[in-house]
Amino acid sequence: MIPFISQLAKNEQVLWLQALNEALPDENIVLADDVPQEQKHLCTLAIVANPDLATLSQFKNLHWLHSVWAGVEKLMETLQKSAIKVVRLVDPMLSQTMAEAALAWSLYLHRDMPIYAKQQLNKQWLQQAYVPASQRRIGILGLGELGCVSAMQLKNNGFQVMGWSRSAKILAGILTFNGESGLAEMAAKSDILICLLPLTPATKGIVNTVLLNKMPKGSSVINFARGGIIANDDLLKALDDRQIKHAVLDVFEQEPLSSHSELWQHPNITILPHISAPTNMNSACTIVANNIAHYRQTGQLPACVDKVKGY
Ligand code: NAP
Repeated sequence: MIPFISQLAKNEQVLWLQALNEALPDENIVLADDVPQEQKHLCTLAIVANPDLATLSQFKNLHWLHSVWAGVEKLMETLQKSAIKVVRLVDPMLSQTMAEAALAWSLYLHRDMPIYAKQQLNKQWLQQAYVPASQRRIGILGLGELGCVSAMQLKNNGFQVMGWSRSAKILAGILTFNGESGLAEMAAKSDILICLLPLTPATKGIVNTVLLNKMPKGSSVINFARGGIIANDDLLKALDDRQIKHAVLDVFEQEPLSSHSELWQHPNITILPHISAPTNMNSACTIVANNIAHYRQTGQLPACVDKVKGY
């Protein structure tokens, strides 16, 4: 028996359960609450979507968890000292969806859509200077599953693309950077900075006044990763100082974003309700199913999240 442990609404949990059981017909996947008390200790594997600690800890003998989300920072915080291994979702379809978002919102900034929307409100007929994509430099923070595909998508659409990661990387046609000095160098060249880093102790607040001030004056920021990666007060100051022209924010420390947040009202912020790359239930279930079937056949776990690095 495999428990599905999640804080999603019950109807969403049921949809996941159906899809998972269809993808894994030889397994018996049940909602965590429906696992009989006396059988909980027999469960060694769970499938999770943002599980709560109280429910997780009812299953005393879990060896590993398969998350159906790609971002697992809350799970890593919860399980920091536990021996339970965590496998996160790595889905090419998710990477493609994120690459589409990276392109869409880069074009939004590149073609001055926020400015034209404001001009229309004022019935203002004013043509902004056109900058060719080949002269627009886009820096991507994070060159992992999502960052790499996004970088290639942007490059294929004619932008000058750069990327920054922890380890050095070689990517055809992409200028890559790593380390602290690499971050400063890339920021200084980025007209648009796209955040695709995992949230870890090392990346929390990494987009702050120091970094924003290294960017060219009038550049823009897109955050598709996690809210905690941007220091909001620093961003607001940079926007008010016109150091940063516009920010597209899809993720927030508190979601949904509180109606009291000043981010909503800012004229140079575009707020999105965490829509850049939703998990596709079908492809996610197929990936989870393949990983679990492989584990049953070989005893080998898929690649696990590194608890020291936090991603
Ligand atoms: P990933 O494959 O683990 O890639 C992470 C990248 O960030 C890697 O290139 C890694 O460097 C780099 N990195 C991590 N810590 C670093 C540090 N301290 N300094 C420099 N580089 C660092 O993750 P992913 O699958 O691309 O996903 C990234 C994040 O996107 C997720 O963690 C999640 O929070 C977010 N996400 C958002 C949505 C949404 O809808 N908004 C959807 C899915 C995911 P190395 O390559 O050297 O390891």
